[in-house]
Amino acid sequence: MFCWLNRLYRGLSSPTGRTTQLIWGSLSRSLVLSSRRRIPEFSSFVARTNTCGELRSSHLGQEVTLFGWIQYRRQNTFLVLRDFHGLIQLVIPQDESAASVKKILCEAPVESVVRVSGTVISRPPGQENPKMPTGEIEIKVKTAELLNSCKKLPFEIKDFVKKTEALRLQYRYLDLRSFQMQYNLRLRSQMVMKMREYLCNLHGFVDIETPTLFKKTPGGAKEFVVPSREPGKFYSLPQSPQQFKQLLMVGGLDRYFQVARCYRDEGSRPDRQPEFTQIDIEMSFVDQTGIQSLIEGLLQYSWPRDKDPVVVPFPSMTFAEALATYGTDKPDTRFGMKIVDISDVFRNTEVRFLQDVLSKPKGTVKAIRIPEGAKYLKRKDIESIRKVAADHFNQEVLPVFLKASRHWNSPVAEFILEKQSLELIRLMELQEEDVILLTAGEHRKACSLLGKLRLECADLLEARGVVLRDPALFSFLWVVDFPLFLPKEENPGELESAHHPFTAPHPSDIQLLYTEPEKVRSQHYDLVLNGSEIGGGSIRIHDAELQRYILATLLKEDVKLLSHLLQALDYGAPPHGGIALGLDRLICLVTGAPSIRDVIAFPKSFRGYDLMSNAPDSIPPEELKPYHIRVSWPADSEAEKSSLDHPHHPES
Ligand code: ASP
Repeated sequence: MFCWLNRLYRGLSSPTGRTTQLIWGSLSRSLVLSSRRRIPEFSSFVARTNTCGELRSSHLGQEVTLFGWIQYRRQNTFLVLRDFHGLIQLVIPQDESAASVKKILCEAPVESVVRVSGTVISRPPGQENPKMPTGEIEIKVKTAELLNSCKKLPFEIKDFVKKTEALRLQYRYLDLRSFQMQYNLRLRSQMVMKMREYLCNLHGFVDIETPTLFKKTPGGAKEFVVPSREPGKFYSLPQSPQQFKQLLMVGGLDRYFQVARCYRDEGSRPDRQPEFTQIDIEMSFVDQTGIQSLIEGLLQYSWPRDKDPVVVPFPSMTFAEALATYGTDKPDTRFGMKIVDISDVFRNTEVRFLQDVLSKPKGTVKAIRIPEGAKYLKRKDIESIRKVAADHFNQEVLPVFLKASRHWNSPVAEFILEKQSLELIRLMELQEEDVILLTAGEHRKACSLLGKLRLECADLLEARGVVLRDPALFSFLWVVDFPLFLPKEENPGELESAHHPFTAPHPSDIQLLYTEPEKVRSQHYDLVLNGSEIGGGSIRIHDAELQRYILATLLKEDVKLLSHLLQALDYGAPPHGGIALGLDRLICLVTGAPSIRDVIAFPKSFRGYDLMSNAPDSIPPEELKPYHIRVSWPADSEAEKSSLDHPHHPES
């Protein structure tokens, strides 16, 4: 283990040295000074002299007192002690006079907590361990105290990655002892600290807490409901502080930010949590480029120095281009394999189904190129790709190989004329071993399918050893010019907001609101990192009339529910805009963690349970009375009730 903690702290703060000055002249001066602190004082206020991980040859001869957990023991001679900072080897005294110390250190089970005092000495020549940052030295123990003994563990701390995630979540407090969790949570804390510094100290933002007991409001994600003591009345947990931050602008706060907890009852998805954290921002008198520059600066400033630096400004792409070339509004721009429209190649084709599609008004033929696909993709891969297309998109996809001998499952290959083949080679820049995946259909549908297959193929190629996405690369992208509305999924005849109903239309499209609202572009921007959406925001509507029209007439929402906001807009609301960054996802990408659960101290499981405490849990009927609530048990209620008496979760 490299000396990660020092590196983390050094990397994340300015290299101007530690300050011990306690009395500061002014608030701003003190904030600047504290931010310059290099390595924190880890042993202040406690009885230890040092942390385990910080000791080096420079400490030789020093008498030290350490506290930590027993990592392992070798032949009753050596013991390795661990704290959050690292590992240190202790030499267990063997002489008669130290028999009691020896007994404690030899008998205490692994993961017991001990206090030891002793002298820092050099390891004998040849016994140094270059892999350990403390590997040149060891502690000659003089006294030891067992502070708490550890029972047999459900898993070994150092092997935590090999355990099932359910077990790790059940014993989260043990899992947190692992190096990886310590690193992730500390890096998160450091980045948030730097963000606060940047926003509050450098740019005058005010950190303001907004309520988490709110009410149900229209639009957006499904909310969690909280009963109140008034019959039939409920609070809702906010899906974001959106309305409050806009009201803060009306209140003249000018620049707001919050590390905000948000709640969405959206069911499980791998990169979602029912409660999650946003870096939530709102500013008055700002436009889209202002918010974008702010975020670029914020990320650059808070970015860990041991990662490749963030290069600004970030590139930008319109929503339409993202969809047409990557099949998604969150393109992973670390690699090519872009979607190419090859409709023109097939205008006079003999292939029946291509003819059919192209004869329709929105019909297109599109393809992606899999570099060296003939070499890396197996027949079964092609079959599974075609199955994904059929099952999830109800679409046909055809592999086309350049080499005639390799046209497995490519019924069209023989119908592609020489001329078309040459045109395809030119348009798609094809090489000998490449494969193209071809599909035909309506523009949006064909793009979405190929966008999905592009990612599937990238995974397949990488599983075969091809490096497509450099793990050290952070590829940021702004996606802009979204439509203001999208057709509702469940009822395409109706409109819903592409972002949220408070997003302002593009100034040049305002007139279209009254004629062809589906064509209106918005002032909404998303920030994408390596193919994940890590933030989104917009310039807001600050005109009450326009807001009312969009809510009532276009979105058919009940405006009474938002009368507080509409009223506020009427009292001199300044023009304003903002953004929210998804902190969990961002930290997950920065640390390279496999899941967002790995950057949250106490996350919910995939299905939304807390496997450690068994939340959500049942409440006795008498405790529900004050809320005027009764559980209406589903038909197979007996099974339900008994599972509550003996809670078990599918994941545990
Ligand atoms: N509140 C929005 C969201 O959570 C972000 C924003 O528009 O600022 O997506």
